[in-house]
Amino acid sequence: TCGICVEKCPFDAIEIINLPEELDESPTHRYGENAFSLYGLPIPESGKVTGLLGPNGIGKSTAVKILAGEITPNLGRHGDEPSWEEVIDQFRGTELQNYLEGVRDGDIDVARKPQYVDQIPESFDGNTRQLLEATDERDALDELVERLSLRPVMEQSIENLSGGELQRVALAATLARDADFYFLDEITPYLDIGQRVTAARLIHELAEEEDRAMLVVEHDLAILDLVADSLHVAYGEPSAYGVVTSPKSVKNGINEYLRGYLDAENMRIRPEAIEFEAHAPRPSTESETLVEYPAMTKSYGEGEFALEVDAGEINRNEVLGIVGPNGIGKSTFAKLLTGELEPDGTDGEADLDVQSEAGDFDLDLDIAYKPQYVEADQPIRVDAFLSSITEDFGSSYWNTEIAQPLQLERIMEQNLTELSGGERQRVAIAATLSKDADLYLLDEPSAHLDVEQRVLATRAVRRYAENHEATVMVIDHDIYTIDLLADRLMVFDGEPAHHGHATDPKEMRAGMNEFLANLDVTFRRDENLGRPRINKPGSQKDKQQKRDGEYYYTQ
Ligand code: ADP
Ligand code: ADP
Ligand code: MG
Repeated sequence: TCGICVEKCPFDAIEIINLPEELDESPTHRYGENAFSLYGLPIPESGKVTGLLGPNGIGKSTAVKILAGEITPNLGRHGDEPSWEEVIDQFRGTELQNYLEGVRDGDIDVARKPQYVDQIPESFDGNTRQLLEATDERDALDELVERLSLRPVMEQSIENLSGGELQRVALAATLARDADFYFLDEITPYLDIGQRVTAARLIHELAEEEDRAMLVVEHDLAILDLVADSLHVAYGEPSAYGVVTSPKSVKNGINEYLRGYLDAENMRIRPEAIEFEAHAPRPSTESETLVEYPAMTKSYGEGEFALEVDAGEINRNEVLGIVGPNGIGKSTFAKLLTGELEPDGTDGEADLDVQSEAGDFDLDLDIAYKPQYVEADQPIRVDAFLSSITEDFGSSYWNTEIAQPLQLERIMEQNLTELSGGERQRVAIAATLSKDADLYLLDEPSAHLDVEQRVLATRAVRRYAENHEATVMVIDHDIYTIDLLADRLMVFDGEPAHHGHATDPKEMRAGMNEFLANLDVTFRRDENLGRPRINKPGSQKDKQQKRDGEYYYTQ
């Protein structure tokens, strides 16, 4: 170990070039002797959106509790806690001085959107309208409801909302408040790309037009890039210590983070860079076909949602990305493949006959399915749960391929019900990949994972597909995750909740172009890293790329 970490080095004994300077100073806050300590603080600025990028457990919520006045920072001292004056002294001459004086005097009103929106129904009994009207201090509800498309769920009981609906309700409730400082802990889980972009714009407008200070924690880097005006990176060792850097430009902050090296801090935070290809990957031609399915339709009844699927084939050994808005029929398609639903016109008779190398067989593939909303109601330990799923549990192969990349070692002895959202997600991915199946279907595996975990989970899924001749389908709305994961793309389009259309699986370039044309969004490439960045609508590049029909891959 390098001497800072109390546990094993999370980055496999990286070379620490310099101890971060902040660590020579006293921390901003420490929960107790030998407990988690936080160094530095993000700086809220009126009229601006400040981004915070870093792993889970690194002290982001702690920093926000300090900025919200819920925790008085102790500068790492226990027994002789410092006065506010001493704390403010530590930040004298910085932008934080004014802000902390406001916190000390109780002058700062804070509105906060919690990270885990799934927990909202436990603390609120009533419908959407009641919840939103109670928070509408700015008289902004009409616009928020309109732009977040909440009209159809206004009279619905909060406990019946889906995760994506709850996320938008929580955003509306937070942004409707009349506060000086807004803190939004993850804005994208369960939202599709269109909704993510809308959320980013609403946050940006509130900062700019009403001169409010916003702090956003976000792991979807395309959206973080879009929403933030400046960026603090948080690094360190989760649950041991965390350091919040001085603000960086958003572009540099994200690039340094991806590269794994913080320039101003002279600090390596990861042994290798996360890289994107500016070229579309070449379509692989050698794969065998797992299944060929015919064109089919499925409607839920007169006047209800109807899905039309073009004929297509899924290859063995591939990771097929599935993209499209919420409510467009992605899960319906998955259920057609599993045989849980039957296509129209089959009258409950035998399933579809489809051609495969094994000859004719019914379209009832064995599918291992990770649902979008991962629930854990069994009071059973993680290790007991996973060993009940696979005999390979604990084997060196299983440890290397599944447990390590999904960072399960540290949570094996915890109860499923005690896990955080990101921990539950990792256990659910592990459980799905540990099953014996023809097809593995992962619905939004990126939700609640931090960037590091997304990359590790992506690698685990890709390696699993390669080593097991397994076929994996991944539904996700994080474009970076899709980019790193998918070999081909299936695009869903239509009018959510009314009708949907699914294309056949396409190679990445064609798939991205079709998907992003539907959304009317283009990406340019960062000149240093090739990282995809959303173009400003109507900008030179945006117009040119739309003319060329190249929405994502620019070379
Ligand atoms: P993040 O928001 O980045 O996920 P948090 O600020 O929630 O991180 O937590 C950082 C670390 O501080 C975690 O290891 C957490 O267990 C620890 N921690 C949080 N609150 C307390 C507390 N009241 N007492 C002791 N440790 C705490
Ligand atoms: P996605 O997975 O793309 O979010 P789904 O396939 O889950 O979309 O749902 C598509 C539409 O079909 C939604 O409007 C949903 O409310 C509706 N729907 C899903 N299941 C049923 C059902 N059993 N009966 C009627 N409507 C349904
Ligand atoms: Mg947190």
